[in-house]
Amino acid sequence: MVVVAVLSAAWFLGLLPGVATTDADRTAPSPGVEASDGRLGTPLTPPAAGGTFAFAQLQDDGVTPVAYDPCRPVHYVVRPDNAPYGGEQLITDAVAQMSAVTGLRFIVDGATDEAPDEQRQPFQPDRYGDRWAPVLVTWDTVTEQPDFAADVAGQAGSLAVSVGDGPGVYVTGAVELDAAQFTDILSRPGGQAVARAIVLHEFAHLVGLDHVDDPTQLMYPTTSDVLDFAAGDLAGLSRLGAGACEPSL
Ligand SMILES: [Zn+2]
Repeated sequence: MVVVAVLSAAWFLGLLPGVATTDADRTAPSPGVEASDGRLGTPLTPPAAGGTFAFAQLQDDGVTPVAYDPCRPVHYVVRPDNAPYGGEQLITDAVAQMSAVTGLRFIVDGATDEAPDEQRQPFQPDRYGDRWAPVLVTWDTVTEQPDFAADVAGQAGSLAVSVGDGPGVYVTGAVELDAAQFTDILSRPGGQAVARAIVLHEFAHLVGLDHVDDPTQLMYPTTSDVLDFAAGDLAGLSRLGAGACEPSL
Protein backbone atom coordinates (compact mmCIF):
# COMPACT_ATOMS: atom_id res chain seq x y z
CA MET A 1 0.00 0.00 0.00
CA VAL A 2 1.18 3.49 -0.73
CA VAL A 3 -0.28 5.18 2.28
CA VAL A 4 2.40 6.00 4.80
CA ALA A 5 0.31 7.27 7.64
CA VAL A 6 2.10 7.01 10.96
CA LEU A 7 -0.16 5.71 13.64
CA SER A 8 0.72 7.28 16.90
CA ALA A 9 1.45 5.60 20.16
CA ALA A 10 -1.15 5.10 22.77
CA TRP A 11 -1.67 7.96 25.15
CA PHE A 12 -3.54 8.77 28.35
CA LEU A 13 -1.24 6.42 30.21
CA GLY A 14 -1.08 7.83 33.72
CA LEU A 15 -2.54 5.94 36.61
CA LEU A 16 -4.54 8.08 38.94
CA PRO A 17 -3.29 7.69 42.51
CA GLY A 18 -6.67 6.75 43.86
CA VAL A 19 -10.36 7.29 43.48
CA ALA A 20 -12.61 9.11 45.90
CA THR A 21 -15.98 7.44 45.95
CA THR A 22 -18.02 9.26 48.54
CA ASP A 23 -18.20 13.00 49.08
CA ALA A 24 -19.77 15.64 46.90
CA ASP A 25 -16.43 16.54 45.34
CA ARG A 26 -15.89 13.02 44.19
CA THR A 27 -13.97 12.39 41.05
CA ALA A 28 -15.51 9.01 40.31
CA PRO A 29 -19.00 7.57 39.90
CA SER A 30 -20.73 5.21 42.27
CA PRO A 31 -18.81 1.93 42.11
CA GLY A 32 -19.94 -1.02 40.07
CA VAL A 33 -22.27 0.67 37.60
CA GLU A 34 -23.56 -2.11 35.29
CA ALA A 35 -21.09 -4.63 36.76
CA SER A 36 -22.12 -8.25 36.24
CA ASP A 37 -21.03 -11.32 38.15
CA GLY A 38 -19.24 -12.76 35.16
CA ARG A 39 -17.65 -11.82 31.89
CA LEU A 40 -20.05 -10.55 29.25
CA GLY A 41 -18.25 -12.32 26.44
CA THR A 42 -15.46 -14.72 25.64
CA PRO A 43 -12.18 -13.71 24.02
CA LEU A 44 -11.27 -15.41 20.78
CA THR A 45 -8.80 -18.26 21.10
CA PRO A 46 -5.66 -16.84 19.49
CA PRO A 47 -3.85 -18.67 16.69
CA ALA A 48 -1.50 -21.32 18.03
CA ALA A 49 1.35 -19.96 15.93
CA GLY A 50 1.77 -17.00 18.25
CA GLY A 51 3.20 -13.68 17.21
CA THR A 52 4.46 -10.36 18.43
CA PHE A 53 2.42 -8.08 20.64
CA ALA A 54 2.97 -5.52 23.36
CA PHE A 55 0.75 -3.97 25.96
CA ALA A 56 0.40 -0.26 26.50
CA GLN A 57 0.47 -0.59 30.27
CA LEU A 58 1.22 -3.34 32.76
CA GLN A 59 0.14 -3.97 36.32
CA ASP A 60 2.73 -3.84 39.09
CA ASP A 61 3.62 -7.50 38.48
CA GLY A 62 5.17 -6.44 35.19
CA VAL A 63 3.28 -9.13 33.30
CA THR A 64 -0.47 -8.63 33.51
CA PRO A 65 -1.82 -6.00 31.15
CA VAL A 66 -4.04 -3.14 32.21
CA ALA A 67 -7.38 -3.77 30.54
CA TYR A 68 -11.04 -2.88 30.58
CA ASP A 69 -13.33 -4.65 33.03
CA PRO A 70 -14.84 -7.52 31.00
CA CYS A 71 -17.81 -7.79 33.36
CA ARG A 72 -19.38 -4.53 32.26
CA PRO A 73 -19.99 -2.96 28.87
CA VAL A 74 -17.66 -0.42 27.31
CA HIS A 75 -19.83 2.51 26.31
CA TYR A 76 -18.79 4.89 23.57
CA VAL A 77 -20.10 8.04 21.93
CA VAL A 78 -19.24 9.45 18.53
CA ARG A 79 -18.94 13.10 17.65
CA PRO A 80 -20.15 13.08 14.03
CA ASP A 81 -18.68 16.46 13.06
CA ASN A 82 -16.23 16.28 10.12
CA ALA A 83 -16.91 12.57 9.54
CA PRO A 84 -15.99 11.35 6.08
CA TYR A 85 -18.65 9.62 4.01
CA GLY A 86 -18.87 6.08 5.39
CA GLY A 87 -17.12 7.05 8.60
CA GLU A 88 -19.86 5.97 10.94
CA GLN A 89 -19.90 2.51 9.36
CA LEU A 90 -16.12 2.24 9.70
CA ILE A 91 -16.43 2.79 13.44
CA THR A 92 -19.36 0.39 13.79
CA ASP A 93 -17.46 -2.32 11.93
CA ALA A 94 -14.24 -1.81 13.91
CA VAL A 95 -16.12 -2.03 17.19
CA ALA A 96 -17.84 -5.24 16.09
CA GLN A 97 -14.50 -6.76 15.15
CA MET A 98 -12.94 -5.66 18.44
CA SER A 99 -15.82 -7.17 20.36
CA ALA A 100 -15.51 -10.47 18.47
CA VAL A 101 -11.79 -10.72 19.24
CA THR A 102 -11.72 -9.52 22.85
CA GLY A 103 -15.15 -10.60 24.06
CA LEU A 104 -15.62 -7.10 25.45
CA ARG A 105 -19.14 -5.81 24.94
CA PHE A 106 -19.37 -2.36 23.41
CA ILE A 107 -22.48 -0.20 23.54
CA VAL A 108 -22.87 2.92 21.42
CA ASP A 109 -24.63 5.71 23.27
CA GLY A 110 -25.13 7.74 20.12
CA ALA A 111 -23.82 11.13 19.13
CA THR A 112 -22.15 13.72 21.31
CA ASP A 113 -20.98 17.28 20.84
CA GLU A 114 -18.07 16.75 23.24
CA ALA A 115 -14.78 17.85 21.70
CA PRO A 116 -11.50 15.95 22.06
CA ASP A 117 -9.40 17.14 24.99
CA GLU A 118 -6.15 15.67 26.26
CA GLN A 119 -7.18 16.76 29.75
CA ARG A 120 -10.55 15.07 29.40
CA GLN A 121 -12.19 14.28 32.70
CA PRO A 122 -13.09 10.58 33.13
CA PHE A 123 -16.13 11.45 35.25
CA GLN A 124 -18.50 14.04 33.79
CA PRO A 125 -21.76 13.65 35.72
CA ASP A 126 -23.38 16.73 34.20
CA ARG A 127 -22.97 15.33 30.70
CA TYR A 128 -23.08 11.58 31.19
CA GLY A 129 -24.60 10.95 34.61
CA ASP A 130 -23.33 8.82 37.48
CA ARG A 131 -20.95 6.56 35.56
CA TRP A 132 -17.55 6.75 33.93
CA ALA A 133 -17.66 8.95 30.83
CA PRO A 134 -18.04 6.82 27.70
CA VAL A 135 -15.16 6.40 25.28
CA LEU A 136 -15.12 9.42 22.98
CA VAL A 137 -14.63 8.90 19.24
CA THR A 138 -14.00 12.04 17.18
CA TRP A 139 -13.03 13.03 13.66
CA ASP A 140 -10.54 15.78 14.38
CA THR A 141 -9.48 18.77 12.37
CA VAL A 142 -5.80 19.66 12.26
CA THR A 143 -6.61 22.63 14.47
CA GLU A 144 -7.98 20.29 17.12
CA GLN A 145 -5.14 17.80 16.84
CA PRO A 146 -1.93 19.39 15.50
CA ASP A 147 -0.27 15.94 15.28
CA PHE A 148 -2.55 15.30 12.33
CA ALA A 149 -0.72 17.96 10.33
CA ALA A 150 2.04 15.36 9.89
CA ASP A 151 1.49 11.80 8.73
CA VAL A 152 -0.43 10.72 11.81
CA ALA A 153 -3.86 9.40 10.89
CA GLY A 154 -5.20 8.61 14.32
CA GLN A 155 -4.42 8.20 17.96
CA ALA A 156 -6.13 6.46 20.80
CA GLY A 157 -5.70 5.35 24.35
CA SER A 158 -7.48 4.76 27.59
CA LEU A 159 -7.29 5.98 31.15
CA ALA A 160 -6.62 3.53 33.93
CA VAL A 161 -7.73 4.13 37.48
CA SER A 162 -7.33 2.07 40.60
CA VAL A 163 -8.66 1.94 44.11
CA GLY A 164 -5.84 2.08 46.62
CA ASP A 165 -3.25 -0.54 45.73
CA GLY A 166 -5.69 -2.42 43.52
CA PRO A 167 -5.02 -3.14 39.87
CA GLY A 168 -5.31 -0.48 37.24
CA VAL A 169 -8.45 -0.77 35.13
CA TYR A 170 -9.34 1.19 32.04
CA VAL A 171 -12.55 3.11 32.59
CA THR A 172 -12.72 5.37 29.55
CA GLY A 173 -10.67 6.48 26.59
CA ALA A 174 -10.61 8.33 23.33
CA VAL A 175 -10.15 7.54 19.67
CA GLU A 176 -9.19 10.49 17.51
CA LEU A 177 -9.26 10.08 13.75
CA ASP A 178 -7.89 12.55 11.23
CA ALA A 179 -10.96 13.74 9.33
CA ALA A 180 -9.08 15.13 6.33
CA GLN A 181 -6.77 12.14 5.92
CA PHE A 182 -9.60 9.65 6.14
CA THR A 183 -11.54 11.59 3.51
CA ASP A 184 -8.47 11.39 1.28
CA ILE A 185 -7.76 7.71 1.96
CA LEU A 186 -11.37 6.71 1.35
CA SER A 187 -11.31 8.43 -2.04
CA ARG A 188 -8.48 6.20 -3.28
CA PRO A 189 -8.80 2.78 -4.90
CA GLY A 190 -8.57 0.24 -2.12
CA GLY A 191 -8.87 3.02 0.42
CA GLN A 192 -11.75 1.44 2.26
CA ALA A 193 -9.57 -1.45 3.44
CA VAL A 194 -6.78 0.90 4.49
CA ALA A 195 -9.18 3.11 6.42
CA ARG A 196 -10.63 0.06 8.13
CA ALA A 197 -7.15 -1.12 9.08
CA ILE A 198 -6.27 2.23 10.65
CA VAL A 199 -9.49 2.31 12.67
CA LEU A 200 -8.86 -1.26 13.88
CA HIS A 201 -5.30 -0.28 14.86
CA GLU A 202 -6.60 2.67 16.87
CA PHE A 203 -9.26 0.61 18.64
CA ALA A 204 -6.56 -1.90 19.50
CA HIS A 205 -4.67 0.97 21.20
CA LEU A 206 -7.89 1.87 22.97
CA VAL A 207 -8.23 -1.55 24.59
CA GLY A 208 -4.55 -1.65 25.52
CA LEU A 209 -2.20 -2.77 22.75
CA ASP A 210 1.01 -0.89 22.07
CA HIS A 211 3.10 -0.81 18.90
CA VAL A 212 5.40 -3.65 17.91
CA ASP A 213 8.49 -3.52 15.75
CA ASP A 214 7.18 -6.28 13.52
CA PRO A 215 5.82 -5.28 10.12
CA THR A 216 3.70 -8.42 9.85
CA GLN A 217 1.38 -7.18 12.62
CA LEU A 218 -1.29 -4.53 12.40
CA MET A 219 0.23 -2.88 15.47
CA TYR A 220 3.32 -1.92 13.49
CA PRO A 221 3.36 1.88 13.72
CA THR A 222 2.96 2.62 10.05
CA THR A 223 0.43 1.42 7.56
CA SER A 224 1.53 -1.38 5.28
CA ASP A 225 -0.07 -4.18 3.31
CA VAL A 226 -1.21 -5.71 6.61
CA LEU A 227 -4.85 -4.74 6.69
CA ASP A 228 -6.24 -6.93 9.44
CA PHE A 229 -5.21 -8.30 12.80
CA ALA A 230 -2.40 -10.84 12.55
CA ALA A 231 -1.51 -13.63 14.98
CA GLY A 232 0.34 -11.45 17.48
CA ASP A 233 -2.34 -8.77 17.47
CA LEU A 234 -4.99 -11.44 18.10
CA ALA A 235 -2.99 -12.99 20.93
CA GLY A 236 -2.58 -9.63 22.64
CA LEU A 237 -6.22 -8.66 22.19
CA SER A 238 -7.34 -12.00 23.57
CA ARG A 239 -5.34 -11.30 26.74
CA LEU A 240 -6.86 -7.83 26.96
CA GLY A 241 -10.34 -9.31 26.88
CA ALA A 242 -9.50 -11.54 29.83
CA GLY A 243 -8.86 -8.87 32.44
CA ALA A 244 -10.11 -9.03 35.99
CA CYS A 245 -13.57 -7.83 36.93
CA GLU A 246 -13.39 -4.82 39.23
CA PRO A 247 -16.80 -3.97 40.69
CA SER A 248 -15.14 -1.62 43.21
CA LEU A 249 -14.61 0.93 40.44
ZN1 LIG B 1 -0.50 3.22 16.63
